[in-house]
Amino acid sequence: MMPRVVALLALPLLLPMLAGCGPDKREAGAISTERLLTSDSAPEDWLTGGRDWQQSYYSPLKQIDRNNVGRLGFAWEYDIETTDGFEATPIVVDGTMYSSGPKGAVYALDAKTGRALWTFMPDIDPGIMQKLCCGVVNRGVAVWKGKVYVASLDGYLYALNAASGAIVWKADTITERQRGYSITGAPQVAGDVVVIGNGGAELDARGYITAYDLDTGKQAWRFFTVPGDPAKGFEHPELAMAAKTWDPHSRWDVGLGGTAWDAMVWDPKLNILYVGTGNAAPWYRKLRSPAGGDNLFLSSILAIDPRSGRLLWHYQTTPAESWDYTATQKMILADLRIGGRLRQVLMQAPKNGFFYVLDRKSGELLSAKPYVPVNWASHVDMETGRPVETGQGDYSTGPRLIFPGSAGGHNWQPMSFSPATGLVYIPAYQFPMIFALPPGKFAYQKGGANTAVSVVFPTPGPFGLDGEAAKDLPPIAELAKGQPDYRPRGFLIAWDPVAAKEVWRVDTSGPWAGQFFASWNGGGVMTSAGGLLFQGRSTGELAILDSASGRSLGTIAVGTSMMAAPMTYSIDGVQYVAIMAGLGGAFGRTSLPGTAAYAYGNRGRIVAFRLGGGAVPKRPPLRHDAPVLVPPPVPRQGTAADQQAGARLFQRNCAICHAAAGGKVPDLSRMSAQTHRDFMAIVLEGTRAAKGMGNFSGVLSRSDAERIHQALIEQQWKIYEAATKTAAPHSVNKGSGKSD
Ligand code: CA
Repeated sequence: MMPRVVALLALPLLLPMLAGCGPDKREAGAISTERLLTSDSAPEDWLTGGRDWQQSYYSPLKQIDRNNVGRLGFAWEYDIETTDGFEATPIVVDGTMYSSGPKGAVYALDAKTGRALWTFMPDIDPGIMQKLCCGVVNRGVAVWKGKVYVASLDGYLYALNAASGAIVWKADTITERQRGYSITGAPQVAGDVVVIGNGGAELDARGYITAYDLDTGKQAWRFFTVPGDPAKGFEHPELAMAAKTWDPHSRWDVGLGGTAWDAMVWDPKLNILYVGTGNAAPWYRKLRSPAGGDNLFLSSILAIDPRSGRLLWHYQTTPAESWDYTATQKMILADLRIGGRLRQVLMQAPKNGFFYVLDRKSGELLSAKPYVPVNWASHVDMETGRPVETGQGDYSTGPRLIFPGSAGGHNWQPMSFSPATGLVYIPAYQFPMIFALPPGKFAYQKGGANTAVSVVFPTPGPFGLDGEAAKDLPPIAELAKGQPDYRPRGFLIAWDPVAAKEVWRVDTSGPWAGQFFASWNGGGVMTSAGGLLFQGRSTGELAILDSASGRSLGTIAVGTSMMAAPMTYSIDGVQYVAIMAGLGGAFGRTSLPGTAAYAYGNRGRIVAFRLGGGAVPKRPPLRHDAPVLVPPPVPRQGTAADQQAGARLFQRNCAICHAAAGGKVPDLSRMSAQTHRDFMAIVLEGTRAAKGMGNFSGVLSRSDAERIHQALIEQQWKIYEAATKTAAPHSVNKGSGKSD
């Protein structure tokens, strides 16, 4: 140690540089407002989920560029024992990487080697598993002044010591644990507080965000995104204003949604916190607020003073939201010259299909143009700032094919803004869905699924056109008449936010063009001053494009399916690119043929790349023997009416996880004799809670569970009968009485 110090002192000219990059010169996790404001002059770090306070997902680093990116290869990997998948982008500060994984796990690594410094895994209430809409994922940590903040799936906010991972404080952020709350989002630091929201609007959550003191975890303020029952009084003044946009007889009991499950960004110069809010609960507008109204603050962008928690302005992207159109998609802040004036803007591509540019100081709408086909609204009126509905989105009078579908035109996958090209890069998709009101009267289930809407994919499959819910629908050709092409496609779209128009697009459907999974191949996006755009794919390829033209500059075969946004940083003069690799989330629980998860399994890892690195090591390929068809081990049960009722109960309560076969969530069309025997105990007693299957006794009666079982047995028989008709004779194990 001593000689090295002496040697350094002999080189005084190097000292200022070394002081700037030496990890041992600062305490761990030393991110501050000052460092955020000067992050462009210290591009070796990646300080927030999107690198900078603007959340641009752009880096000024340019050692890796268009000319040499072909030499980019493997630097290191960090293996993570989970198959749940990753949606987070790591933070790197002073040579240490911090990131998060399923349930709120945290990994602190030496960013040069991938060696673990410490890890953290919160204890999770297993009861949370039946309250999830979209997978066991986590979208990141916040690092600030020596602490790492992370939220657990079951709703606790943790402050960890950045050097050791020890818990400094823990706060319970959930107001009502009987409701369908969970957290998958990242905390956001804003001045003296750390802020966290939650998810659950497919169930019965009432959305809110809570701010906590950074050092003590003491609650500073809470902002509800929708009012509660006015008879009980309002928690803060904004709710009196919001309540005027709701029917006094609204379904206050159901919670009404508006959950802030992802996007938050803090402007330290204006000292404004921006929060995107989610969809309604229930989705169908006349059911929750019969007399109509805009239903503030659903599907809105909120500008909040982080000192007081008071609202400065709001912009509602989708008044009277009825299609799961969240405005929780990530927002990027930038300064753009629009109409000859330099404007401080906020940009978002929410689910509803319009790309918005707002003045982030005043909330003034500057542009709103469709980035994917939209048929629920014709345009956004620039005078009123409101979308003009076409009527095609009104499914109250019959089923409708609606663009975009409930997954939106863009979801949580981060977009990127490059100041070098002036373009925003959106991982987008064209994925309409058929919306219909299910038969019968809506019955609220406390803590259960309460969308009150039936959604069918316009694709083959049990949750598409071949499923129980599709039986009552007109043919797709009829629903699609006069509408845009309904076959799902994925796109990477380069959008000019000044001209409010698309500049180029690349099809990212992979092998799934026309199938629902086309939407889930293109992950989050990162761009760099090297003129590059990076995007992970479900196929296991890291795609590299020229950010100006969209031209492909090649792919790196990673061998693990990816959906999180990559990031980049630099240590000792070497630029690295890193990504959390692993498939999961809303549609990513499947491991379809064509995904790397199918070829090599879905065990997670963080993979880092550098120039001159070699091929990425792959895991051993999985064997996929053709399944031997065996007849279902139990006879058909129940009447046709029981089975149909069971199928509808399944759609409402189970499909959210068991929607697509072949993944980590068991395919219930192939249950074993043992699973059939255990079925009631699994569903009503939680005997497989440790494997992630919740206890549904709170929402399903015994006869409900029996009917679901009868429906699944019927489905199992139908699949077997169809397969034995088409399968080669040798692959069929003929059993009880089936002979063709
Ligand atoms: Ca939703």
